[in-house]
Amino acid sequence: MAILIDGKAWAAHDRAQTAVAVAKLADSGIKPGLAVVLIGEHPASMSYVRGKDKAASEVGIYSEVTHLPSSMTEAGLLHLIRELNHDERFHGILVQLPLPAHINEQTVIEAIAPRKDVDGFHPFNVGALALGLPGMVPCTPLGIMRLFEYENIPLEGRHAVVIGRSHIVGKPMVQLLLAANATVTVCHSRTKDLAGLTRQADIIIAAIGKPRFVTGDMVKPGAVVIDVGINRSEGKICGDVDFASVEPVASHITPVPRGVGPMTIATLLNNTVKAASLRA
Ligand code: NDP
Repeated sequence: MAILIDGKAWAAHDRAQTAVAVAKLADSGIKPGLAVVLIGEHPASMSYVRGKDKAASEVGIYSEVTHLPSSMTEAGLLHLIRELNHDERFHGILVQLPLPAHINEQTVIEAIAPRKDVDGFHPFNVGALALGLPGMVPCTPLGIMRLFEYENIPLEGRHAVVIGRSHIVGKPMVQLLLAANATVTVCHSRTKDLAGLTRQADIIIAAIGKPRFVTGDMVKPGAVVIDVGINRSEGKICGDVDFASVEPVASHITPVPRGVGPMTIATLLNNTVKAASLRA
């Protein structure tokens, strides 16, 4: 039986620490502010934004959600971002992805001031991470690194297999694992003999977006399995890992829900406070 990594509990621990940091900043007259921009009525995005807004308010961050119709033009959105870049109330700006097809995601990301880019998606921050320089680090992979730390899971010299190479999860995860001296294999949809590779892994990070994709026969006994996936299957939320067959084989496993998801939000709050502290 694997040890269950309780992301929900660790996220609560992180949020409590963030609340303390917010209170300290208040002593210097600073209130961290987060501007969240949501476009359209995508149900999952609306739910994520609600979660982020509520969590921010609970730790004492000033949070403001701008909800725009899906007819919003790219020029209009860029104008809003430029205003937010100059608005001193906000230390962090988050544009909830995905955007409607008529808006270029990369153009929007590049419009956000790097120091306010609490998602860590701006090329400046992506480059800083690759070079090992200070910057904003994407919330999901950074939250996973915190889970490794809290659960005392060593990374140095261990073989980590990351399935997925998105800008949001897979690639920054690779950079963070490399920086922690893991040996990293990156897999994607063109990878040959994926199961042969995952069976060599001491640590598997599944960020694929396919329900229950990683099964017990793909996992080496005693491996640590981190499930990033959030999929809707038969009306329920499930991960990219088939929990039922993997849990008996793994040494540690994150559940879905209550695993990586809550850590992503906790890390976003932490990044916002970091942005406020840096400006201070
Ligand atoms: P993307 O769709 O951007 O990337 C998916 C990756 O999986 C791609 O690199 C793709 O390869 C790879 N892939 C797809 N099919 C296969 C396959 N058959 N074998 C091997 N690799 C494959 O997704 P994201 O990275 O944005 O998200 C991944 C999952 O994580 C989703 O379920 C998402 O909802 C969830 N998520 C959860 C978060 C959380 O906080 N818990 C935060 C962000 C995302 P290729 O590049 O070749 O197409």
